[in-house]
Amino acid sequence: MSAKLVFADGHSHTNPVKGLGIRNIAKKFKQVNGWFIALVSLPPHHYGLDETLEGYKKSFDILINECRVAREEGLRVTCFAGIHPAEIDRMVSQDPKHSEKVIEFAEQALNYIAKLVKDGLIDGIGEIGRPHYKAAPESFIASEIILRRALEIARDLQCPVHLHLEQGGFVTAKSIADAISLLQLNREKVILHHVDVLTSVHAQSLGLLFTVPGKLPILSEVFKRLKPVYMIESDFIDDPKRPGVSSYPWQIVENQLKLLSEGMVSEEYLYKINVDVITRVYGVTPP
Ligand SMILES: [Zn+2]
Ligand SMILES: [Zn+2]
Repeated sequence: MSAKLVFADGHSHTNPVKGLGIRNIAKKFKQVNGWFIALVSLPPHHYGLDETLEGYKKSFDILINECRVAREEGLRVTCFAGIHPAEIDRMVSQDPKHSEKVIEFAEQALNYIAKLVKDGLIDGIGEIGRPHYKAAPESFIASEIILRRALEIARDLQCPVHLHLEQGGFVTAKSIADAISLLQLNREKVILHHVDVLTSVHAQSLGLLFTVPGKLPILSEVFKRLKPVYMIESDFIDDPKRPGVSSYPWQIVENQLKLLSEGMVSEEYLYKINVDVITRVYGVTPP
């Protein structure tokens, strides 16, 4: 392995209650020259907590502690707290005619997240957005209202935001490009996460930032089709009961090295997506 090649995970979750937790993950990730992780909160039930405002606050405390441990283990980290759109859908589905309660709840949670950003305890908002699967129209529009509110907060605080969206190709990218213009957001702060190949191509042509899952079939496509101005993610959920759902952070490194050894990508390209983009977007110092 080349001495200068180091690797970033642009979007990952850890669960110190039921899974490996960042202490173990960081050690293994560092063994494959991992240097940076963007850590994102999991919905409270993943940690055995209630889906109440109190439960959310406790889940953010867990996240903040995981970020502290990551730094202790020698990783650079940015820290994101949010309300997953699948949770919004679940809440709206329980009582679709009273969705104002869900909006109110999300507002309270977002205000708390904003306070955590202002206090310097976390760095940004995420994940937030729209369901990636077919959901009731009420769920979709509720998610959209909450997404817009989160984007306004991100703009006012000048903080980054991770978006979880449907993978609709052009319309997905265009809706976010339009929101950025309408709300006058900084383009460098809005990251579409877990985008598929088609959506990534449209996102890149509209000048948006995004992360792609570090799976082999996806990487071999995007390395051919995209300029190196995006990031790679594991979207690891650290749930021992669902091991195949996402990649381990070290697997996304193995996949990049495999494609490098096959001549499908250059060291320079990998350096740009694993270091240059990360340092520019998150303002962290390179390794
Ligand atoms: Zn997501
Ligand atoms: Zn995620």
